[in-house]
Amino acid sequence: MEGLYIVRSPKQFEKEVDFYLKHFNPITLDKLVDYIYNGVPIHKPSFLLSFDDGLRGIHDYVLPILQRKGLEAMLFVNPAFIGNQDMMFRLKAALIANELKKPKNKELKYVAKYVYDIKYEHAEHLNELAVQLNIDFKNYLDRHKPYLDLDQLKQLQSNGFHIGGHTHTHPELRHLPLVEQVSETLSSMNWVKQNLNPKHQIFSFPFTDYGIEKEFYTRTEKQIDLYFGGAGLKTESNPKHLQRIPIENLKDAKTMTYFQYIYWLLKMPFGKNNITRK
Ligand SMILES: [Zn+2]
Repeated sequence: MEGLYIVRSPKQFEKEVDFYLKHFNPITLDKLVDYIYNGVPIHKPSFLLSFDDGLRGIHDYVLPILQRKGLEAMLFVNPAFIGNQDMMFRLKAALIANELKKPKNKELKYVAKYVYDIKYEHAEHLNELAVQLNIDFKNYLDRHKPYLDLDQLKQLQSNGFHIGGHTHTHPELRHLPLVEQVSETLSSMNWVKQNLNPKHQIFSFPFTDYGIEKEFYTRTEKQIDLYFGGAGLKTESNPKHLQRIPIENLKDAKTMTYFQYIYWLLKMPFGKNNITRK
């Protein structure tokens, strides 16, 4: 979707994977868990791919490439969107913005960029705008099927993908009260457990883990083995919370365009950028 994800071609994605394979050692989630929980050392600089949001491109384009290379990966999903029952509010905003940019809406063109400022808490405005502009989200979901369905998730799982939660509806957690942060999170964890029963319980924060407090971990850690953020090469005071390097917004010679959310997790000599939480 234009304006929302930077899109890579499968060819470019494969090139990037080859680049990482050349310089880093692919690591399994088992090994990573062993390292965190049992201190089993990882000797070489390593990487593990992960993908957020549960988009269908992971099944259609990423899976064949990773299968060919014998790589495993992590995939974090929002159960509210699985099977294309609904879409993330940001995708709604992108559809509205694209509509506003059409020549027939010439006089509205300038408000297009403000649509992206609408936050999760006010997402109902997006539904109202869509009605005004004759955009049918349901119809878009049926025609384009941007998200994976449960069968595809199962197929991914049996081919080396570790599926985890990414909250139920993809809110920006720090803007929610703690009780809702926890229920959004655990609802996605429970869905994954019930439908896919994965070996490791993994979770990634939607948007950012900025502003998440210690109490959040206390209330969720029974159901989560590892937490993943996207703040780059930083270490967390909670050893079960790992940061990933977001590469989906990079646009240079090595990282150009088709597909959506890729994160690289690199085991490297981390710097002193420690994140402490109150
Ligand atoms: Zn996300």
